[in-house]
Amino acid sequence: MSEKEIQTAPTPPERVVPVEDQPFWDAIDSDSFVLARCTCGAYYARLQACLQCGADAQALTWVPASGRGTVRTFIVFDKPYHPYFKERLPYVVAVVALEEGPELTTNIVDADATNITIGMPVRIVIGTRGQHQIHQASARV
Ligand SMILES: [Zn+2]
Repeated sequence: MSEKEIQTAPTPPERVVPVEDQPFWDAIDSDSFVLARCTCGAYYARLQACLQCGADAQALTWVPASGRGTVRTFIVFDKPYHPYFKERLPYVVAVVALEEGPELTTNIVDADATNITIGMPVRIVIGTRGQHQIHQASARV
């Protein structure tokens, strides 16, 4: 066995979390899915100024979210742009329109890539990648 063949498996890309989004990822690590809700009722997947009423990010509160949504658009990756994904091809990256309003870029994990369609219902599930938990979309709604 060559030295190359006995190398350990590639590690996944690091999860980079802006400090203002830490509560979102803390919830993911605790197996829950939350969104930031403004006092006016608008929802966001991160802390930001409200686009609906103009309130600043301090008006937003993290609340449990349904995780239900539909595929707004998607792409099937058939080339690995990171060594970790080389053994995981093909994989699907989708923009999911959540029923609360925000859009979330995530992977669709349990559907044949040829069966995914724009508008199909999905739900957010929690998966694992390396040492972290991540959100993913399941076609099993
Ligand atoms: Zn607002």
